[in-house]
Amino acid sequence: MRRRGIRFWALISITAVSFITTVLFVFLSYTRISKSLKDQYINESESVLEQSSNNFTVQFSNVQTILASVSEELEKDFVDVFNTLQFYERLTPSNSPIYLGLENGQYYLSSKQLLPDSYKVVEQEWYQNTGNGNEVSWTEPYLDYLTQELVISASIPVKHNGHNGIAAIQFSIDDISSIISQSVIGEKGLVMLISSSGKILANRDNYLISESIIANNQEALLERSFDEQVPYVIDGQNYLIHTMTIDQNGMSILTAINEKELQNYLIKSLYPIVLTGIVTLLLFSSMAYLVLLRGIKPLKNLGTLMSYVELGNYDVYAKEKKYLEVYQLSKGFNSMIRAIKKRDRELNLTYNELKKTEGQLRSKYEQLKASEEKILHLASYDPLTGVLNRRSLMQLLEESIEHHNGESLKGIIFLDLDNFKTVNDSLGHTMGDKLIIEVANRLSSITAGNKNVARISGDEFIIIIHDLQSENEIEAFAKEIVQTFDEPLIVDAKQLNVTASMGVALFPIHADSTEELIKFADMAMYQVKGLGKNGYKIFDEDIKKAVDEKVEIELGIGECLKENNFELVFQPLFNVQQGRITNVEALLRSKSSALSKFNIFQIIQTAEITGQIIEIDKWVLREACLSIQKINKEVEVPLHISVNVSALHIMQQDFVSNVKEIIEETGVKPEWIDLEITETSLMESFDQNINKLYELKEKGISLHLDDFGTGYSSLNYLNSLPIDHVKIDKSFIDKMLESKKDSKIVETIIALSHNIGLKVVAEGVEYKEQFELLTDYQCELMQGYFISKPANYETIIERVNNNLKEKIISV
Ligand code: C2E
Ligand code: MG
Ligand code: MG
Repeated sequence: MRRRGIRFWALISITAVSFITTVLFVFLSYTRISKSLKDQYINESESVLEQSSNNFTVQFSNVQTILASVSEELEKDFVDVFNTLQFYERLTPSNSPIYLGLENGQYYLSSKQLLPDSYKVVEQEWYQNTGNGNEVSWTEPYLDYLTQELVISASIPVKHNGHNGIAAIQFSIDDISSIISQSVIGEKGLVMLISSSGKILANRDNYLISESIIANNQEALLERSFDEQVPYVIDGQNYLIHTMTIDQNGMSILTAINEKELQNYLIKSLYPIVLTGIVTLLLFSSMAYLVLLRGIKPLKNLGTLMSYVELGNYDVYAKEKKYLEVYQLSKGFNSMIRAIKKRDRELNLTYNELKKTEGQLRSKYEQLKASEEKILHLASYDPLTGVLNRRSLMQLLEESIEHHNGESLKGIIFLDLDNFKTVNDSLGHTMGDKLIIEVANRLSSITAGNKNVARISGDEFIIIIHDLQSENEIEAFAKEIVQTFDEPLIVDAKQLNVTASMGVALFPIHADSTEELIKFADMAMYQVKGLGKNGYKIFDEDIKKAVDEKVEIELGIGECLKENNFELVFQPLFNVQQGRITNVEALLRSKSSALSKFNIFQIIQTAEITGQIIEIDKWVLREACLSIQKINKEVEVPLHISVNVSALHIMQQDFVSNVKEIIEETGVKPEWIDLEITETSLMESFDQNINKLYELKEKGISLHLDDFGTGYSSLNYLNSLPIDHVKIDKSFIDKMLESKKDSKIVETIIALSHNIGLKVVAEGVEYKEQFELLTDYQCELMQGYFISKPANYETIIERVNNNLKEKIISV
C-alpha cells in the first residue's frame, strides 16, 4: 500500500471537517431562517387578518347600530325622513347612502339622488333580502342597479307613519374594503375579502375578482384555514392561507402567504449567511493547513536528517526545538545517533578482530587445504612417478565403466617391465626408481588421446585407454609402447635398454568388471612373459583357458601335497669315464587323477607362480634323500641323487636351513646330494644366492647348473659360482646332430667348462650318435632316453645293477 504523508491526511481531514461543518451550518441556518421567516410572514398575515377583521366588524357593527337608530327614529311621528337619513349617512362608512323603501312604493335616499323610474324598490336586492323582526340582514354582494358596482347591503325592517318598510345601507365593496386594498403580505401575498359563498370580493389588485376561491371540493381545507395556516393552491400558485369570518354577514377575510416568495426570500436571506460560513470555513481550513505545514516542517527536516543517516552519514544533529513534541523527537534522534556511533565504533573493533581471526582462519584453512590436497594427491597418485596409484586407478576404472555410454571400447594395458629385478640388483634401487620414473614418463607421453596411466606396484603399470572404436586401435597403442622401449632410457647419463611385457584386455568385449579386466590383462601379460617377454598380447579365450588350467593345477597340487599323492621317478646319469651309472635325477610325478592331464613341467611352472613349489621342493628333497639311502643299499657303488631346486625356493631366506634340516632329518650323506639349480635362480639376488650356495657346498653338497644355455649362458660368471657340474640343456643336445656348427657349440661349452674346472652333464641324449659325439667331447655325464627314461625306484635299481650296464657297454 502506498504510504501517504501527514499533509495528505490533514488535507483529507480538513476537507471532511469543512464539508460536514458546512453542511451542518447550512442545514441549521436553513431550518432556523426558514422558521423565522415563516413566522414573520405568518405574524404579518395574522396581524393583517386581525386588523381587517376588526375593521369590518367595527364597520358592520356601526352599520347595524346606525340602522337600528334609523329604524328607531323613523318610528317616531313627524320625523323628517330625509334629514334623518342624511344625518345617519354621514356616520356610515364612506358616507354610503341609506335607502328607505316603504310598502307603498315610496322610497327615500339619503343622497337626495333621483332614481330613475325603472328603479323598483321592492325588486332591489337590499329590499328583498331583509328578514323579519328587528334584526339587521346582510346581503351577498350584488351589482347595484344604478352604479353597476359590486355592492353589499345591510337592511332592517322599519315602520314609518304606519307603513312597513325597509331601511338599508348599500356599500360599495370598494368603499368598505379599503383596508383590504391597502394590506399586503410580503410582495406576492394576498389579502382578500371573500363572500360567504366563496367568491373573491376585493383585494389590492382586484385579482380574480368574483372568481370562486372554493374549487376542487376544497371546502374542508378552507374550513381548516379558520384555525391555522393551510397550504392552498390559488390560481396555480402555492400559498399558506388563513381565513377569518366576519360575524355580521358571513364574509371572510383571507390572507395568503406566497410560498415561492417565502422560499425565494429564504434563499436570499440564506445566501450571505452560507457564503460567510463557507468563507469562514475556508479561512479556518487554510489556517489549519498552514499551521499543520508549519508543524510538520520540523518533522520533514528530521526526515531529511534520517535520510543522511540512511546513507551512512552519522555526523548530523537535530536542532528542531519549536514544538515540545518535535523537541523531544530531536532529542531522541540525537541520542539515537550517539548510540549508533558508539555501536559503530564497537562494531568496528569487533569487525577488525573478526577480520583478523578470519585471516588467521583463512591461512589455517589454506594450510589444511594444501595438506588435504597433498593427502589426496598421495592417496590418489603414486608418489614416485606422479601417475595414478592402484587405488585411484581402480576407482577411475570402476566409475568409467559405470558411466559407459555403451558404444565405445575401453582398453586396459597391463605392463610389466622385463628383468627389472636384475636392473635393481645390479644398478641399485635408486637407479631402479629413476628408471621407473622414466618409464612412467614414456608411458604418459604415448599418443593415445583419452588415457590414464597408473603404477600399481614395483614395475607394473596399467594404462587405460578410453573411447576406442576397435581392437585395432588398442593394438596400435600397444605397438607404440613396444616401440617406445626400442629407444634406450637415459638414467643418470646411462643408457638402459628396457623392454616390457604387456597384456591387453578390452571392455566390454573381454570382461565387464574392473577386477576381471585387470585379471585378464594380467594373464595376457604373463603369456608374453612365458613367450619370451618384450611384446604384447591381447587377451583371448586360450589365455583364459590357460589360466583356468593353472587354477586347476593349483588345486591339484594343493590336493597332492595334502594327500601325499606325489611320487618320484628317477632318471640315471651315465658316467662315461667310469662306464657306469653314478647319479640319478629325482623327477617329480603326480599320482593324482586331478593332475593326470598335465605334464610335470606345467605343474612345476604353476607351482612356481603360486609359491607351492617351495612346499614341493621340500617334499622332493626329503623323498630324494630317503630314496637314495634306500637305493644305495641296493647297489654296489653309492649313487648321487640330483634334486631340482626351484629358483623361488633358493630366493627364500630359509632355503639353506630347509636343506640342512632335511639332510639332518633323513640322515643322508650330503655328498650323495646334487642340487640342480638354474641360471635364473642365481641371477635374481645374485650375491645373496651365491652365499647360500657356498654354505651348502661347505656342507658337502654338489651343485649342478641345470638347463645351461637357456638363460644368460655367460661362461664368465660360472667361474665365480660354487658349482661343480654344468648341465647342458637338451635343446643343444637335440640340435647337435643337425649341423656341425651346433655340435661345435656343445663341444666348446664342454671344453670351456673343463677349462674352469667344471664337469659337464649332457641332458636329453636320445641317440647313439649323440652319445658317441659327447663321449668324444669328453662329456663326463650323460642323461637321456638313450640311457634310460625316468623310472621308478625298483626299475632303477634293476637297471643300475644289470641292464643298463650291459646296454651301455654294448654301445
Ligand atoms: P630337468 O631338470 O632339466 O629335467 C630333465 C627333464 O628332461 C625331465 O623331464 C626328463 O624326463 C627329461 N629328459 C631326460 N632325457 C630326455 C630325453 O632323452 N628325451 C626327452 N624328450 N626328455 C628327456 P621331466 O621329468 O618332465 O621334468 C621336466 C622338468 O621339470 C625338469 O627339467 C625340471 O626342471 C622340472 N622338475 C622335474 N622334477 C622336479 C622336481 O622334483 N623339482 C623341481 N624343482 N623341478 C622338477
Ligand atoms: Mg634337472
Ligand atoms: Mg634340465
